[in-house]
Amino acid sequence: MSTIEVKKITKKFGDFVAVRDADLTVAAGEVVCLLGPSGCGKTTTLRMIAGLERATAGDIVIAGRRMNELPPEKRDIAMVFQFYALYPALTVGQNIAMPLHYEKLAKTDADKRVRKVAEILHLTDVLDRMPGQVSEGEKQRVAVARAIVRDPNCFLFDEPLSRLDVELRHSMRGQIKEVLSGLSKATVIVTHDQLEALTMADRIAIMRDGLIEQVGTPHEVFARPANVFVASFIGTPQMNLIEAELTGFADGKAEVVLAGNAVALRTDPAVGRLAAGKVTVGIRPRAFATTPAASHDTIPAQAELIEPMGAETLIHARTAAGGDIRVVVPRGQRVKIGEALHLRPDPRQTHVFDGAGKAVRA
Ligand code: ATP
Repeated sequence: MSTIEVKKITKKFGDFVAVRDADLTVAAGEVVCLLGPSGCGKTTTLRMIAGLERATAGDIVIAGRRMNELPPEKRDIAMVFQFYALYPALTVGQNIAMPLHYEKLAKTDADKRVRKVAEILHLTDVLDRMPGQVSEGEKQRVAVARAIVRDPNCFLFDEPLSRLDVELRHSMRGQIKEVLSGLSKATVIVTHDQLEALTMADRIAIMRDGLIEQVGTPHEVFARPANVFVASFIGTPQMNLIEAELTGFADGKAEVVLAGNAVALRTDPAVGRLAAGKVTVGIRPRAFATTPAASHDTIPAQAELIEPMGAETLIHARTAAGGDIRVVVPRGQRVKIGEALHLRPDPRQTHVFDGAGKAVRA
């Protein structure tokens, strides 16, 4: 079975801990994206799986076999790097066939395999061209073709699309996802681009400062972020994270002093078990209804800056406490600068994080 198990791995460079106690299991046929800001330890984790970096502690198990001491070539992994290099003096077809030379495959069998992957990646028409005669997107697909032409245990991709322009990235995301979904291999993709992770991954592992903060499906990490960091990292425009004082809980509503106002917000019932004190209330910009009048469950704010975003409009509003709240409304809803807004958060999308920044949920 093509699976990857990362068991409590830690990587230290001298005293610096680049990855700490990382746990991750990737099932056969599953695509997991390692996502996080620069320097959080994504590439180091990937390199430990590949055998390019030795783990300081913990185990790497691939296809059921502990691999810690094995060099990269013995792990039977196919890797696609950000800076893939094609052999400029070989044709596209010869480039794709390269890994098969080491397998000592008969030429007819090798040709058959090359033609098959070329077909999957829509490269059949350019097999006889030199790398200098194909587009960037085609070059990227050649790099992927070269990885899948063998039948490795699993695939590792390190920022595979970062060199492509926006439009090409968009189409390649879908294409790579489609190719991978037909291969039943465990795949890990490193990216710092959340859109890439949300569209390509079956599950996303979000990292910060060497720690895996949450592992979940794209829907889970968006709808049920485990902590303030994940909430702030996933979703555009960014979730509003408002510091508040929890004063009580009654009738399914959290009583909070938020942005200078006392409001009662319907939230997860687990908030009722929380002691009074500092919390962070998280509300996505698209999770507000704007109401004509103030009420006990609305947050008053004044529109300060209006940014048209096409089908929607982003409003930056100022609260009574002087903080900024981002609100997204449909394009048809006219809001003027200076207008008083009464914002009612959608209770199903109101997140409460405790004093340590951890989501409070039943
Ligand atoms: P990016 O998106 O910028 O590539 P990343 O999340 O992949 O970031 P890593 O490359 O895994 O981050 O690096 C994690 C941390 O470990 C960084 O602070 C980096 O400077 C440090 N680091 C990586 N390799 C080494 C090394 N060989 N020696 C010392 N420190 C290193």
